[in-house]
Amino acid sequence: MIDVFVSLGSNLGNKKKNIEKAVKKIGAIENTKIEKISSLVKTKPHQAPGPNYLNGVIKIATTLSAEKLLDSLKKIETELGRKRSFKNAPRTIDLDILLYGNKKIKTKNLIVPHPKLKIRDFFKKSLLEIEPNLKLV
Ligand code: ADP
Ligand code: MG
Repeated sequence: MIDVFVSLGSNLGNKKKNIEKAVKKIGAIENTKIEKISSLVKTKPHQAPGPNYLNGVIKIATTLSAEKLLDSLKKIETELGRKRSFKNAPRTIDLDILLYGNKKIKTKNLIVPHPKLKIRDFFKKSLLEIEPNLKLV
């Protein structure tokens, strides 16, 4: 099992419900279990106008590859009604992989650690809330 941190964000519809539904669906992904859930925080949208976000981070353990996990997360986004209209458009749910073990990945579809990890305050705060000993270098 590999420990993975996934960010959850919603700024459309019933944000809390959307996040709860996403967590439930993530828990139902094959060979994956939820280990910890951070508190949810309100944040301002960044680089785009629009409603405030509700954000959180979860820690999961999985045997799926990062690519497979990303596919499953994208499927959940679609199931929860996410439409891909324009960059940074308001969304019912955004699920990003922040950390996948201590692996570094850089492919066309996936960059891990998440490129915004260090510049988005809530990523760091929520990660440290659920994993106080995490080393964010
Ligand atoms: P954003 O999350 O940047 O607001 P999207 O959710 O629309 O935008 O994602 C755009 C693309 O980013 C996805 O199709 C995905 O392939 C790619 N991507 C690259 N790295 C990651 C990552 N660590 N987690 C999630 N998606 C990623
Ligand atoms: Mg995303």
